[in-house]
Amino acid sequence: MAERILIVEDEPEFAALLVLWMERSGYRPTLATTGNDALRKFYEEHPDLVILDVALPGLDGWQVIVRIREFSRVPILMVTARSSESDKIRGLKLGADDYITKPLSFPELLARVEAALRRASTPSPERPRRLQHRDLIVDLDDHRARVRGEDVRLTPTEFRLLAYLVEHAGQLVAHRQVLSEVWGAGYDADVHLLRIQVRDKAPARPSRRGPRKVAPAPRSRSRPPKPAARPAAE
Ligand code: CA
Repeated sequence: MAERILIVEDEPEFAALLVLWMERSGYRPTLATTGNDALRKFYEEHPDLVILDVALPGLDGWQVIVRIREFSRVPILMVTARSSESDKIRGLKLGADDYITKPLSFPELLARVEAALRRASTPSPERPRRLQHRDLIVDLDDHRARVRGEDVRLTPTEFRLLAYLVEHAGQLVAHRQVLSEVWGAGYDADVHLLRIQVRDKAPARPSRRGPRKVAPAPRSRSRPPKPAARPAAE
């Protein structure tokens, strides 16, 4: 069945174009033109992905992300006219999965939508179903991460990043490798996404003893990771 996409955009012509693009690509789009409208339609329709404009009347895109993230891990693709780094960082810290800057190209938007939906779907079956690193258990079947038995709330992208890093704990992995594994093909130069998620977001969810050292290596010292990972003891 076609994935439902909630498009939140207040510029009528651009909104109509987005709806048309998404319909022609086989998705089922719903349009919301204000932040409040977005939340109402989100509750009603349970979309599979949200394309979210930042500058909106009423609740702005930032507030919408915060409200959605209170109870949902749905992929959120932020669309912003601003190109400043601080806006991108702010969106990703609040829980957006990805961002795209206006003016945007449809092929790029489509690629990012597809990548976000792919990340949100279940991981490939050949991987171990459960990974453990010290107090952290990552369950790939039910997409849950627990630190000493306590659930850690993560978006699908955060979960994939965490799983990838735990899978390669103790190894040096290249930025571009993490990006293409976690975000998908075409993201390997987007070091910004990775830097924000790891440096700023991961330490915001520490265990009581502080965050563990799970971080990508500096580019200059990178080498490919070994594919094998240690599954958790049953
Ligand atoms: Ca707008």
